[in-house]
Amino acid sequence: YDAVVLLPPGLSRDDVIALERRHVWPPYTSSEKHEQQEPLVIVRGEGAWIVDANERRYLDGVSSWWTCTLGHDPPRLRRVLREQAEQLIHVAAGGITHAPIALLAKELAEVAPSGLTRTHFSDDGSTSVEVAIKIAFQHWQQNGRPKRHRFVALAGAYHGDTIGAASLAALEEFSGVFGPLLFDIVRPPPPDEGWDAVIDHVERELRARPDEIAGVVVEPLIQGAAGMRMHPPEVLQRLRAITREIDTFLIADEVFTGYGRTGHMFACQRAGITPDLMCIAKGFTAGILPMAATMATDRVYDGFRGGPSRALMHGHTFCGHPLGAAIAREVLAIYRDEKIVEGVAPRAATIARRFAKIAEIPGVRRVRHLGTIGAADLGEGGYSGAMGHRVYEEALRRGAYLRPLGDTVYVAPPLNVTFEELELLLDILEESIRAAIA
Ligand code: PMP
Repeated sequence: YDAVVLLPPGLSRDDVIALERRHVWPPYTSSEKHEQQEPLVIVRGEGAWIVDANERRYLDGVSSWWTCTLGHDPPRLRRVLREQAEQLIHVAAGGITHAPIALLAKELAEVAPSGLTRTHFSDDGSTSVEVAIKIAFQHWQQNGRPKRHRFVALAGAYHGDTIGAASLAALEEFSGVFGPLLFDIVRPPPPDEGWDAVIDHVERELRARPDEIAGVVVEPLIQGAAGMRMHPPEVLQRLRAITREIDTFLIADEVFTGYGRTGHMFACQRAGITPDLMCIAKGFTAGILPMAATMATDRVYDGFRGGPSRALMHGHTFCGHPLGAAIAREVLAIYRDEKIVEGVAPRAATIARRFAKIAEIPGVRRVRHLGTIGAADLGEGGYSGAMGHRVYEEALRRGAYLRPLGDTVYVAPPLNVTFEELELLLDILEESIRAAIA
């Protein structure tokens, strides 16, 4: 096909860039960098590939910020989008419901860790976390623990960019400037002395002030934005045990880890635990529409009985729109029909084999992998390190999009990436690391 026709008539690639530079305000980019950088102008997505206005194809090694778990623009989701648009596009939630949202909520309860039966719908990952902490806080306010004002979150945590989610986050680069606006978090030390020491610290804090902690928030098995830092399932099991013992909430942020990324539908299932609240986004609509969810147990939900003054005081215009719900249902159907989660293990084996080789490249400091994620640290600069960007540029030249996390380069391709594409992606990564380090 001719990529030129995929831009609106009379508009060139350079026109798009000029307009973008003049009028768009992109995330995480200084104004002068925005005005100088040469963005990719993407005109089409096809499976694991994105195609730019020059008709160059790039393997999307990071699934568009980890969200396109089924690849770009899957035909089944395109079809459902069209069909649902013919029927009903949007109504707000107040006193109104519709079949797609009711069916979706039931189907979510079937695939989630058992006991998560209730779903509050919203728009994006940050909001799903914001909702979870507001539910936890309000629950204790009206159920006999009004001094529970604080949350525990781990070192290296990232939970989103809204003020509540950013308060939980521990990444200075993202939230440092907002310090005075953020609320105070109980934060254990980083796992330099091992994860047992971290959890021991959490345990001590919870035992010392059981009346103060509204919940413990965790990215299960892997902290994405921190640089793909992984921990064993026992960490989750211990957090579950101690939160249960003092009867406070465990909140699992599965925005990144959910929907098969780690080899289970949800990472909590790998540890055999059910959190009290669970946040999902990204894979939820496989990146097709902005939609997210916060799931809760009946016990949490039941804390909001007793009249209007005890109602959940949170809601958005888009609390579960039909279009998003129809897509999210079809995503679950594709996961079932195409055995998407079962397909992770063989891909994980490929990633493990190839990262063992990458570990041998002089200059690569550490590698790790879990499910469809493989990561390599090329320096100690953390999030502000520049090595990852060099690999990114090398990879673009070779036909892969690999947006790094500072000095950490990683792959998190669509879960249904073919084995051929995966080997190609890892070839490009390996060559790009060698070229960047040389
Ligand atoms: N939680 C986690 C674990 C995430 O990785 C992210 C986004 N990368 C978020 C929350 C925020 O999601 P969103 O960007 O959709 O607001």
